[in-house]
Amino acid sequence: MGRIAKFFVWVLMVLLFLCAVLGGALYLMYRMAAPEPSQVTASFAGAELKSPSVTWTTPVLGDLFERTDETQGGVMQLGTIGTAVPELAVTGADVVSAEAFLDGQSVASVSGSGVLTLPANGTYTLRVTAQVTPKRANGPHGTYVFEAEFTLKAVPQITVEPASALQGDVVVVRVEGILDGSVPTIETELSPAYFVPTDTGYEALLGVHYNKSGGEWPVTVTCGDTTGTLAVTVSGASFEKVTETLSDAMKQSAAGSAAALKAFNDAMYGVYGIHDGELYFDGQWKWPVATGVATVPYGAFVTDGATGEESRHTGIDLSVSINTPVTAPAAGRVVYAGWLDRTGGTVVIEHGAGIKSYLFHLAEVTCSVNDMVAQGTQVGVSGIAGYTEKPHVHFEVRVGNQSVDPAKLVNGSSAAVK
Ligand SMILES: [Zn+2]
Repeated sequence: MGRIAKFFVWVLMVLLFLCAVLGGALYLMYRMAAPEPSQVTASFAGAELKSPSVTWTTPVLGDLFERTDETQGGVMQLGTIGTAVPELAVTGADVVSAEAFLDGQSVASVSGSGVLTLPANGTYTLRVTAQVTPKRANGPHGTYVFEAEFTLKAVPQITVEPASALQGDVVVVRVEGILDGSVPTIETELSPAYFVPTDTGYEALLGVHYNKSGGEWPVTVTCGDTTGTLAVTVSGASFEKVTETLSDAMKQSAAGSAAALKAFNDAMYGVYGIHDGELYFDGQWKWPVATGVATVPYGAFVTDGATGEESRHTGIDLSVSINTPVTAPAAGRVVYAGWLDRTGGTVVIEHGAGIKSYLFHLAEVTCSVNDMVAQGTQVGVSGIAGYTEKPHVHFEVRVGNQSVDPAKLVNGSSAAVK
């Protein structure tokens, strides 16, 4: 071998050595380019999701190379959860999507953190994908996939509002989150009550009559396999004292007779039990006479100026000049429209779930039974009819046979109109 050849071999050897050193250094740097520490966390139905599968890409030597690490995660067992609307919360990720599978079928999904609405009880698989996007060109980025299995045994939610009620209030009982199609039933001695469907489940109204004693009144609701007993705590309200005097002529008239009272009672007992299967009204009620002035309020102790006898007032007297239009205080179905000696022109409107308005002493009735009326639809004309000597409309509201304070429905304070 000539000198020149030996020189080239030497140069080649040096180059190879340098390449090996450089390569080794590069490899070492590549190995040392540690993936970023785990920064994505996820929780579902209050439990932290663990052992995600992670794919994480890190740049090496500036942006010359990139290194991708993959960690295989596991399927976490979450056991049984009790809510059909579990919440997913993910932190540290830029793009999040989640999907729930029931018997292999995708049945619920959510983008970002939020609530999954699960349609039925059963065994679910959950898959949450959380992406961390590069913050600069070729920056570190990756994907976390959390997988879990759980069993949904959702129990219907039963609530009463208000749980602390005053005499004269309407209490709303709600059952929500029913997944098995069950229709709830209710038992309480507080009031007749009938469930009607709503957007989120079922609702029943309870009337707290002015004579209901203070204390706890149990309300038992059964829905499918679930039975829950809640308490409505009733407190006494304060009621006014009023003196009213009717002439002897009125007391001795047909309107004041026992026969008139019996005919009235028979007619009203006939409508107390009516309960339509839907709520016709939505929101605040209106006074049935726009210009009426409340004289005798709900629940008032009314003393007969002549005899001293005391009675209670089941509605509100709205003093109003005769021939004033009388209108439906809320949407509903007319269930009584006629003349009674005791109450003159008489209109009863069912507003759904057994809550009704009663309008007495009208000079004229301008609606018929089974008319569907909107709020504000004229149903009659005011007067001085029946057992009264003052121009007024008696406005009463009952749930079943239990009277409540109409003012709370009109002023919007009642839970029934919120
Ligand atoms: Zn009255």
